[in-house]
Amino acid sequence: MKKYKDITIRKFEQPPFGTNTYLLTIENKKEAIVFDPSGNPDEIINKAKEEGLRIKDIYLTHGHLDHWIGSKKIQDFFECDIHLHEKDFNLINPDSGKMFGLFNLPIPKNIKKINLNQIQISTKKTLQVLETPGHCPGHLTFTGDGYVICGDLIFQNSIGRMDLPGGNEKQMKKSLKKFLDKTPKGYDLLPGHGPITQLKIEIEYNLYLKKGWLDQK
Ligand SMILES: [Zn+2]
Ligand SMILES: [Zn+2]
Repeated sequence: MKKYKDITIRKFEQPPFGTNTYLLTIENKKEAIVFDPSGNPDEIINKAKEEGLRIKDIYLTHGHLDHWIGSKKIQDFFECDIHLHEKDFNLINPDSGKMFGLFNLPIPKNIKKINLNQIQISTKKTLQVLETPGHCPGHLTFTGDGYVICGDLIFQNSIGRMDLPGGNEKQMKKSLKKFLDKTPKGYDLLPGHGPITQLKIEIEYNLYLKKGWLDQK
């Protein structure tokens, strides 16, 4: 569990691909939002119930199935909306899992176009939204006070794949440069897979954030 200004964030590593689902609780409110609900939605629903929280929105960093397959169950339980970049809408379909032997994926309804500047998570709290394509066309990161939910843009010592359909190495480099430019070095990075890290640590050790690779044409 991580505490930031007015926000508590819990990380749940979920099957089938070890994807991180994040539950953000707004302090002094009985409300929460979820990022990237993966393959064990019951774990999230139970946690929310245990703490008396109502999940009011689901946000997706991008449209890959391991970042949304838990959405429908949470949505059915709490009647919440789901928000995603329009460019990844086509990735939410029952056949997205075919190549992994996953069939009839549970499809959420009312998927909403995300506001590409910022999202309002409570009356006085917003998160900054940054478009960061490269891993896929509609990839987004969300920056709060002291942390970034960065999806499959950056991981500890690595970055998101660029070889999947819709991936693009040039765009990835551009997105990483923009991200480095806009993100304070001391901020925590809450990635879509693996451990939580910090931008300043990645700047020091992550080879993909070094000039050599970033500036290579
Ligand atoms: Zn992905
Ligand atoms: Zn992923």
